[in-house]
Amino acid sequence: MTATMRALVKDRPARGISMLEVQVPEPANNEVLIKVEKTAICGTDLHIYSWDDWSQRTIKPPLVIGHEFVGRICKIGADVKGYELGQRVSAEGHIVCGVCRNCRAGKQHLCPNTVGIGVNRNGAFAEYVAVPATNLWPIPDAIAPELAAFFDPFGNAAHCALQHDLVGEDVLITGAGPIGIIAAGICRHVGARHVVISDINDYRLQLARDMGASHTINVQHESIAGAVKALKIDGFDIGLEMSGNPKAFNDMLKAMFHGGRVAMLGILPNGSGIDWDQVIFKGLELHGIYGRRMYETWYKMTQMVLTGFPLHKAMTHHIPIGDYEQGFELMAAGACGKVVCDWTGAV
Ligand code: NAD
Ligand code: ZN
Repeated sequence: MTATMRALVKDRPARGISMLEVQVPEPANNEVLIKVEKTAICGTDLHIYSWDDWSQRTIKPPLVIGHEFVGRICKIGADVKGYELGQRVSAEGHIVCGVCRNCRAGKQHLCPNTVGIGVNRNGAFAEYVAVPATNLWPIPDAIAPELAAFFDPFGNAAHCALQHDLVGEDVLITGAGPIGIIAAGICRHVGARHVVISDINDYRLQLARDMGASHTINVQHESIAGAVKALKIDGFDIGLEMSGNPKAFNDMLKAMFHGGRVAMLGILPNGSGIDWDQVIFKGLELHGIYGRRMYETWYKMTQMVLTGFPLHKAMTHHIPIGDYEQGFELMAAGACGKVVCDWTGAV
């Protein structure tokens, strides 16, 4: 008889998600099986839940979704070395090919052949998940599990923010979603001067302020240009685009100082326009950001939390997994920072 488990499954091509009884995955020789303790809901999960254009193109139901998680190793494949039963781990959600030019050059985050956990193969919103050992990231005991659950988006924020030297620089972040909020904290942590962040949501702007932003802008009744004036600066040295909103992106370009550098994480709608004059005549540098470095970003995140980075301030909800519908509703309404779900109680 094969063992079964509870899992959140995208079981049909329509809005929603279902808690179903499915088979426990069998780890391959190069994989481990992890007993999941906490998961966090990502914007990607919300896209899949809502069944938007991107998910209709990408997701093949039935699929166990989710990629932000922490748990303990409970079974080890025959070829896996260096891990122990019971060890606490999170994991990188991008499984890379290992043979392309970039993988061979140590630039796995630029692998063109990635397979996404919870996107292209069964994910972590389940009692158990099987993951290649190469993707594991051990979590020290000193880091609370509910924080380790969202190292994945912490990694997006860290990879994007740490793209450039921030010491003494004036930074503009557009978008105070969970990733923008964490990025504001990182900019503060590593020594930026002004850390300015914009959004349309006052609740999230307050979270960003608590995290270390020095100035917030609600673009519904204030402007980025107004902030440049108020701060008496010539423009921003560093831009972190984390809203995915074309207007926010273009307002950012206008507010950049000459020679400024912009890291772009937010996913802009297809065909979004750009004012090239801003880029060309000011000599701006634009850099696309995808995922996080494997595994240098994971290393830096871990050490930042161990040395006092206040990651807990980005978590606003910690709910039993039975309340997952409420978690998705909070995410859809933007009435939250990170929403963490607990799998250790009754599922
Ligand atoms: P999110 O959707 O929760 O955050 C986006 C925020 O932007 C929201 O708080 C929203 O209110 C705000 N916003 C909307 N319009 C705005 C405007 N005009 N000006 C300023 N802010 C505005 O998403 P998140 O999880 O924090 O992720 C941030 C972005 O990064 C999203 O676009 C997401 O899809 C993308 N993302 C990219 C990668 C990658 O690897 N490149 C990975 C994860 C997420
Ligand atoms: Zn994620």
